Amino acid sequence: MILMYHNIVSGDATEGLKSLGITMTQHTFRKHVAWLKRKFEIVSLSDYLMRVEAEGGVDRNVLALTLDDGHGVTYDCARSVSVEYNVPMTIFVSTCQIDDGPLIWGMYINAISTECIYDSINVEGRVLDFQTAKSRKQSRQYLLEWAFAQTDIAESVAALEKEYPLPADIMKHYRGMTSEQLRDAGAGNLIGIGSHTVSHPFLDAIEAEAVRDELLQSKLKLEGIIGAPVKYVAYPSGGYNSDVIGVAKAVGYEAGFAVTPRNLSEEIFEIPRVGIYRDSIALLRLSLMKHRRRGLFKTQG
Ligand SMILES: [Zn+2]
Repeated sequence: MILMYHNIVSGDATEGLKSLGITMTQHTFRKHVAWLKRKFEIVSLSDYLMRVEAEGGVDRNVLALTLDDGHGVTYDCARSVSVEYNVPMTIFVSTCQIDDGPLIWGMYINAISTECIYDSINVEGRVLDFQTAKSRKQSRQYLLEWAFAQTDIAESVAALEKEYPLPADIMKHYRGMTSEQLRDAGAGNLIGIGSHTVSHPFLDAIEAEAVRDELLQSKLKLEGIIGAPVKYVAYPSGGYNSDVIGVAKAVGYEAGFAVTPRNLSEEIFEIPRVGIYRDSIALLRLSLMKHRRRGLFKTQG
């Protein structure tokens, strides 16, 4: 089974960031890893994939850990837990965010909606209010729906980010990994780096040429920084189709990571992952039991 985490944040993270369902504090993440290490054999993704392809499949007690998006603070937090417990992890990085590039669109919408930076913003003539908890929630919902309706989500949200930037003291909690962090990961043997595209689009909803750019340019950028092959891609929001898999293979990926597999291709390009969004160890245990029962991964015995 492969677990999928997102943002691991330090204790001094903003309340807005901590309030998001995709963030977990380092303190909680450490507790998860300590518990998982007692119950499972935690292996690297490449080791896990070798077992997927081996006769008999992956043993039910084997687990791999992944973290999506490539947030800078996540790297620092996850790396120290990884070293502390000697546990391998893989971070899937959206490359637009590297070295203070624009945030992935969903994260910008989260930040602008929760951080109380502006009282209101104007989006194509519609005024979105952020002054109360209720209006922030409604405005975030509106922004997500507005984004889904854009032809190029990343471009439209980047234009909004230009008009309504995040101040530096907020941005430092949200920004992507730096080249230095990526090189540091590449130089060690505990943190693996995979691609999570350039701009985190829904790969199954964009043109073929854009799919190719997202998959190839992210791979080349990461390889240029870490100086080693980037073999794996995690499809953003779990969105892919058989054309996306075809492009992933054509540009040189060796495996693709989904959330729920659609059974369109060989298993190695649709490896399922279990999203972990709750702090409680009891709920983590329940979620893993449920997924084991559903057989969302190959088991042996
Ligand atoms: Zn993602």
